[in-house]
Amino acid sequence: MTAIDDVLKANESYTRDFELRQLPAPPARKLAILTCMDARLVPSRMLGLKPGDAHIIRNAGGVVTEDVLRSLIISRHLLGTEELMIINHTDCGMLKFRDEELRARLVQETGSVASVPVSFQAFTNLEENVLDQIRKVKSHPWLSNRVSIRGFVYDVKTGRVKEVM
Ligand SMILES: [Zn+2]
Repeated sequence: MTAIDDVLKANESYTRDFELRQLPAPPARKLAILTCMDARLVPSRMLGLKPGDAHIIRNAGGVVTEDVLRSLIISRHLLGTEELMIINHTDCGMLKFRDEELRARLVQETGSVASVPVSFQAFTNLEENVLDQIRKVKSHPWLSNRVSIRGFVYDVKTGRVKEVM
């Protein structure tokens, strides 16, 4: 059985006593969270969120891309979120390679060049990266002054979320 077959089985039992049918779409806490896709981060557990509380936007690194801006604008202007948490984390895979190295390796391995992604957005300094992401959101005219943004680093060894000032 594949992993997907496995999780589909779990979904079968999920539907048997499904309790979330009454949830409204706008997040109850008016909160959006941008974080890394790293499987060790479980935002609902680490932040005590209940279903329906927050938008959670994830990608490799928890970086602000064009698509993240798209989601944040929709989150803010169509679904009423007012606060944004950007959470990067210790031991992130994005600290462990350089864009050019990965690109060269992929060309080598696949024998093909590709125009997208333009950048993998690997980074070298966790705290600086968080601040860069905050700046990217703040510099968007449809988000600046419309959303309150704070940045954090999650420690994968302790589970603690610490604010980056
Ligand atoms: Zn990561």
